Amino acid sequence: MPVRIGLGARLSRLNHNRESMITEFHSHEYYMQQAIAEAKKAFERDEVPVGAIIVYENKIIARSHNQREMLLDPTAHAEMIAITQASAYLQNWRLSDTTIYVTLEPCAMCAGALVQARAKNLVYGTKDKKYGACESLINLVNEPRFNHRLNVISGILEDECSELLKQFFLERCRSG
Ligand SMILES: [Zn+2]
Repeated sequence: MPVRIGLGARLSRLNHNRESMITEFHSHEYYMQQAIAEAKKAFERDEVPVGAIIVYENKIIARSHNQREMLLDPTAHAEMIAITQASAYLQNWRLSDTTIYVTLEPCAMCAGALVQARAKNLVYGTKDKKYGACESLINLVNEPRFNHRLNVISGILEDECSELLKQFFLERCRSG
C-alpha cells in the first residue's frame, strides 16, 4: 500500500533533493582540478606529473598520483593506485557507476584495468601520443570485442594538464 505523504513533507523532500543536488553536483572541470592537484603533488616529488581521482555518487572516493619512482614500481600509475583505493572504499572489485578523472590519457595497462574494473566513465585531460590507449595509439576502452566499454570525454582542462607535463620534462632536461 502506498504511503501517503502530506504536501508539506513532499515540498520539503523536493527542496532537500534540490539542495543536495546543488551542494553535491560538480562540473567535469571541478573534478579535473582535483586530479591536477594530485598531478602537482607528483611534480613536487620528481614524478611524472599525472593525477587521478575517482568519483562515485558525486563523492571523491580515491585520489592519487603517479608514484613510479617512489615505489620503484612500473605499475604505480595514478589510475592503478586510484582503482585499488576505490575498490577498498566500495568493498568491491567492480567499480560500476564510477567516473575516473585523469590528467593524461591512460596507457594500455591502466585502460585494461579500467575495463576489468567495469568503470563507467573516463574523463581525461590531455592526449598521450606515446602511450595513449584510449584513442591516440589504440582504443582499449571502446573495444567491441571486450564485454565492457567506457564512456569517454577528453580535453577537459587540456592545456593545464599538458602544461604541467611540458614544464616537468623541460626542468628535467635542464637539470639533467
Ligand atoms: Zn598507465
